[in-house]
Amino acid sequence: MNLELSEEDVAFRDKLRSIFADVPAEIRTRMRAGHVTRDDIVAAQRVLNHHGVAVPHWPVEHGGQDWTPVQSHIYTNELQRAGIPEPLAFNTGMVGPVIAAFGSEEIKDRFLAKTANLDIWWAQGFSEPGAGSDLAGLSTTAVRDGDHYVVNGQKTWTTLGQYGEWMFLLARTDPSAPKKQQGISFLLVDLDTPGIERRPIRLIDGSVEVNEFFFTDVRIPVENLVGEENKGWTYAKFLLGNERNGITQVGTSQRQYADVVEAAAQRTLGGRRVIDDPLFRDRLYDVKLRLKAVEATQLRVTATSTDGKPSPLSSMLKIEGSRLLQEINELAVEALGSDAVEITGGDGGEHDEHGDAVVRYLNNRKVSIYGGTNEVQANVIAKAILGL
Ligand SMILES: Cc1cc2nc3c(=O)[nH]c(=O)nc-3n(C[C@H](O)[C@H](O)[C@H](O)COP(=O)(O)OP(=O)(O)OC[C@H]3O[C@@H](n4cnc5c(N)ncnc54)[C@H](O)[C@@H]3O)c2cc1C
Repeated sequence: MNLELSEEDVAFRDKLRSIFADVPAEIRTRMRAGHVTRDDIVAAQRVLNHHGVAVPHWPVEHGGQDWTPVQSHIYTNELQRAGIPEPLAFNTGMVGPVIAAFGSEEIKDRFLAKTANLDIWWAQGFSEPGAGSDLAGLSTTAVRDGDHYVVNGQKTWTTLGQYGEWMFLLARTDPSAPKKQQGISFLLVDLDTPGIERRPIRLIDGSVEVNEFFFTDVRIPVENLVGEENKGWTYAKFLLGNERNGITQVGTSQRQYADVVEAAAQRTLGGRRVIDDPLFRDRLYDVKLRLKAVEATQLRVTATSTDGKPSPLSSMLKIEGSRLLQEINELAVEALGSDAVEITGGDGGEHDEHGDAVVRYLNNRKVSIYGGTNEVQANVIAKAILGL
């Protein structure tokens, strides 16, 4: 297949670039350095939404763009390469599409516009201490009591849950269902409801990015059920397929790769530029070629996907995409040497443009875990692609 962009696609890309230029430069600088704030994410998404490109993959009647797969691919890559904070995945890639596909008209009216504009910050309440890879084994319960569900249980690893205003939550509504996947429902929870306690979890890089939530007799109005009771696993599978597709992050890797090349060209070690070290160069070329291969594969998968369903090849992209990002982070630490650790004196002061490469290296250990671990993706490949 032809992987060159057509003239129309080039014009489309240039139009996007001019839209992205409306996102304030200081936000892009902080994003590049890995110090993007909550307000930056909100501000960037609102600029994109103003131009009609925050939720391009949603149905057109809810703000989608009906782009071709290739245009969608260009959009994601250009956004990442420009260093624009991506529209909040929990809103735009997860709960929004589920509500649009399975929610009642009332739920769509209540939530979709606010979700696209990030007027509501959503958190993902799926994983539990005993249910990660085996998500269908979750044990949080929602018991019907009149016009409410009463929720009890614990959720964990809730990314950016410290900012969460609402949570989309999987809970067991029928513990006696013959299969564990059958008794689960998809509920929308206002996180100000009494009985909810949130606790931060400090990560290896020192940041608080994930949280745990405890639910004790939390009363959720029945109108906050999405779709049908006990059909939540169907909606969760739809959501997880979209999540996995978003983790490849080719554009982010390309941008960070360019930063490594620049740092390696500037820094000297033992009287020689790091980039002139043949072993280091060899690793750079290896990553560069594999990045090209992932980009081509991603474009091929997107261009040949006809029914909008995630292809099992997205598991392959997730594995290789996350490996590449982690390898680039490792190369950055090596290229920068002692400069990889940024000393800010704890005052939240100025950050240089490389940001803290060690923090990024540590933080991105996560990409091979979340969205379904790489080992679990390997199982999908074995079964669905190799037929083993
Ligand atoms: C930074 C971060 C952010 C996250 N954010 C969210 C969030 O916002 N909301 C949310 O709901 N969840 C979130 N998660 C949770 C994430 O989805 C789970 O961590 C992931 O699904 C793995 O589950 P687990 O941690 O329970 O590991 P486990 O499932 O216990 O796995 C432990 C190890 O066993 C391996 N393993 C498990 N089963 C198999 C198998 N069948 N075959 C081979 N190997 C296997 C795994 O690959 C892993 O190495 C986040 C996780 C991280 C690290």
